[in-house]
Amino acid sequence: MFGTQITESYESRDSIAHIWGYRTPYAGQGQWPVRVDERALADADHWVQSACVFCSNGCGLDIGVRDGRMVAVRGRARDWGNRGRLGPKGLHGWEANMSPDRLTRPLVRRGASLREATWEEAMSLLVGRMQEVCSTASSLAVAFYVGGQLFLEDYYTLAVIALAGVGTPHLDASVRLSTAAGAAALMESFGSEGQPGCYDDIDVTDALLHVGHNVAEQHTVLWARILDRRHGPKPPRLVVIDPRTTPAAREADVHLAPRPGTNVAVLNGLLHLVIRAGRVDHAFIDAHTVGFARLKGVVEGWPPERVEAVSGVPVGALRAAAEVLGATPSLVSTVLLGVYQSPQATAAAVQVNNLHLIRGLIGRPGCGVLQMSGQPAGANAHETGCAGALPGFRNWANPVHVNQLAQLWKVDPLRIAAWGPPTPVVDMLRYIEEGSLRMLWVIGSNPAVSLPDLTRVRAVLDQPGLLLVVQDAFMTETARYADIVLPAALWGEKTGTFTSADRTVHISYTAVSPPGEARPDLDILLEFAQRMNFRNRDGEPLIGWRDPEGAFEAWKACSAGRPCDYSGLSYARLSGGPGIRWPCNEQFPDGRPRLYTDGVFYTAASDCESYGHDLLTAAPVTAAEYCLADPRGRALLKAADYTPPPEQPDSEYPLWLTTGRVVYHWLTRTKTARSRELSAAAPDAFVQVSDEDAARYRIADGQWLEVRSRRGRAVARARVGQIEPGLVFMPFHYGNGDPKHGPRAANELTLNDWDPVSKEPWLKCAAVRIRRAQEPAGIRRLLWLAGLRRALGGGHILHSLALQIARLFAKGGGRAHPGVPGAAADAGAAAR
Ligand code: SF4
Repeated sequence: MFGTQITESYESRDSIAHIWGYRTPYAGQGQWPVRVDERALADADHWVQSACVFCSNGCGLDIGVRDGRMVAVRGRARDWGNRGRLGPKGLHGWEANMSPDRLTRPLVRRGASLREATWEEAMSLLVGRMQEVCSTASSLAVAFYVGGQLFLEDYYTLAVIALAGVGTPHLDASVRLSTAAGAAALMESFGSEGQPGCYDDIDVTDALLHVGHNVAEQHTVLWARILDRRHGPKPPRLVVIDPRTTPAAREADVHLAPRPGTNVAVLNGLLHLVIRAGRVDHAFIDAHTVGFARLKGVVEGWPPERVEAVSGVPVGALRAAAEVLGATPSLVSTVLLGVYQSPQATAAAVQVNNLHLIRGLIGRPGCGVLQMSGQPAGANAHETGCAGALPGFRNWANPVHVNQLAQLWKVDPLRIAAWGPPTPVVDMLRYIEEGSLRMLWVIGSNPAVSLPDLTRVRAVLDQPGLLLVVQDAFMTETARYADIVLPAALWGEKTGTFTSADRTVHISYTAVSPPGEARPDLDILLEFAQRMNFRNRDGEPLIGWRDPEGAFEAWKACSAGRPCDYSGLSYARLSGGPGIRWPCNEQFPDGRPRLYTDGVFYTAASDCESYGHDLLTAAPVTAAEYCLADPRGRALLKAADYTPPPEQPDSEYPLWLTTGRVVYHWLTRTKTARSRELSAAAPDAFVQVSDEDAARYRIADGQWLEVRSRRGRAVARARVGQIEPGLVFMPFHYGNGDPKHGPRAANELTLNDWDPVSKEPWLKCAAVRIRRAQEPAGIRRLLWLAGLRRALGGGHILHSLALQIARLFAKGGGRAHPGVPGAAADAGAAAR
């Protein structure tokens, strides 16, 4: 244990082999028991408070430092989001900070290559080109695209720079690819973003519903909490809706596996059964909602037999799920990418909100919807105005809200780029193609791997006339296209705050210095603002702060009185203890665990973050229309009928492709690939196919496959089993292919289309075909032996031997993982 001297590397548990660790069951009447997970490469001489930035669970941790270097992490027992636990990414991912290939000096393009430059050269060039573009074109020729792992202070500073400094609405964050639909669903139902519930609700709930949320691999510590409830004396029932048999699906009491793109049909079917059974809270509906009659009318058209015909979910399974969801006295639902990255994303996410509203399961202990965010600071991108709304969840279409910002920033309201909705990245790409957008500044994101239809994305990033600025810690696939590369500090090398999926704000302090000349994002943005000489109407600097705490104080003033009110928080209050939830103000000095405890929602026309949309057509509701039927604090029950995805499997592309995560990697692996253990655990992409399809296409486990869609091709080895026939799965993390076999990225195949309300791309469903790819001769012979074994229905030893040797030939490396070439083992083992 820590506190004792460690003379060599140490870890309290093997999180690669045992992802969720040992169980600490609890009854749900008290606090989740503490289990402190730790990993050290050497003794630490001091510890620095932080939290994990890999996913939105935001697990509290301390960074161990020795001789100015990061050497350890350990979970913070006091933090209620993890009670000391850390998952594999939290325990290992920090090693990326010490990677020898960190960017340490600015780079500037000279002809075909990028050459090292001084900060003075790089910033002068950046500011000069920005001024030139703004004067020869307009500020509308400039766009910013930011990742989901910055700090709140970075985001807020960027929002002020973009909206009131440069004066462009072209500001978006990579949460557009992950949680935009969840945010939109919160606005459509409750009038504003902000998770109604919190993780404490898991401790006391009677039932859990996960919709398109691969919680066991995405939020490993949250899943440990759920497993601990499930292994305690009062286990909650568990319903999982996911087309794949994920670890959570294997644990579930009821697993519904719909065809891709049919979430709305399934959720309408569940609402149909719940309403038919009379399991609705009419008193709550009458007092606190509008729209029930229309919702009832739409879902009446979705009896279980029709749901089965459309989605493939058997009638009996749908009824079993509806029985759990209709009977439970409390319910926590989580929603994530399986909904958000699918067609009708917002419409489907809204139906989960509807389930809670018609049953009155909201605003009290054990009842809550978590329209999850995936990225650690994704919530902050939304709050601060970097992801589709104005800062403080303000409504761009409400002049009162715009005036509030104008007063705060001391600028003319017309100077704020709020004459239309902030521009989503999918539209930025089009503007670049059309030539109206001439400068793109990408901060902490890797769109050359993460966006759909990568052939098109590469052409856009490489477009003549576009000045591409990339601010990152590594030479990413995107940075290779850049004209200017600014080396950025990583987590642990800068101070700031960020907010987890249940509104808990954490502080993370600087533990070590960034390498070389790399600088914190906030420093870079502040210098840019100073060099651009942005001024308010009093002639003072528009950005009046010089450090992270100053930025935080400025944000507090911006958030005051809004749903995400931080005014009661401070760096001092966040230091030492656990995180604190917003809103935190005079009324809720210790933070508010649950919103809507009084049944009053942020839907009044004067309060709401958005006037909403028609869920099918995305036609916006105008201010006049909204005010005419002002819900005045009642939640909106919005119905949506099912519409089939425009691309479906056919004779040419007969299979569905869906994409997703593996537990050991995060996003485009910029950091996790630089952890030796994480990389060894999942070194390469794979294509998961069902046993039935493997037999049909004569595919052996571990064999190279080519996957083709109408947009491109990707190549990876096969993983056979644990997926529905007709469906193939690829993880989206892998970008670089190899010259021998070709591209690995799942997004070579995905559709260039998106949810009309949230503008979130459809990364979860595309029509594809597969075939065996060319193998090196030796591997081909060994796989033929494996196929022979399969044909004979036995010969496990021969099969395993052939595959192991084949993997060695093919440089798979890593530990044996069932079906994942060269990957580590226990994701499946613990889950089975
Ligand atoms: S669950 Fe998320 S926040 Fe917690 S350690 Fe794992 S990756 Fe980090």
